[in-house]
Amino acid sequence: MNENLMALLNYRDAKAALISEQINKYGKPIIAIRCNIPGPEKKAPWAEKLYKEALETVESALERENIAYVSVLEVLSDRTIIPEYIQLFKVDADARTIKSLCVQIEELHPLGRIFDLDVYTHLGTLSRIEYGGSDRLCYLCDNRAFECARSREHSLEELIQFLILKAETL
Ligand SMILES: [Zn+2]
Repeated sequence: MNENLMALLNYRDAKAALISEQINKYGKPIIAIRCNIPGPEKKAPWAEKLYKEALETVESALERENIAYVSVLEVLSDRTIIPEYIQLFKVDADARTIKSLCVQIEELHPLGRIFDLDVYTHLGTLSRIEYGGSDRLCYLCDNRAFECARSREHSLEELIQFLILKAETL
């Protein structure tokens, strides 16, 4: 197996394990806040700016709705060789309410296509489509993101360049 694929598998396992540990520990829905950053540079300064914007957007939405939350964990870098910014919030509200809020942010915020806001319960993750979301759209074109990813429609350089420009607007 090639090294990149190994790293990706480790990363996905580590993320899934981490989230289920937190759910078992707290028994509350958890929001995992991260950004869709392609390639290995998930902790570049521009990536951090995008991540902070996602974090602050979720925090203000929860505060606006008077939903109590506690930040339970940040970063995954000690568990995997692909480091990235990720924040888990334990939330005192119904998972469905939180998911609807997160889908609204992903659909309406100018950088929403970059944000990845997953809501987990002990039953797994809640589906975007069931909570008013469309298929995720690519941030460069308006095609569905998984199609662009599958056909490698855009080069890594092109995607990164786009994200850097977006981060500069913050
Ligand atoms: Zn595209």
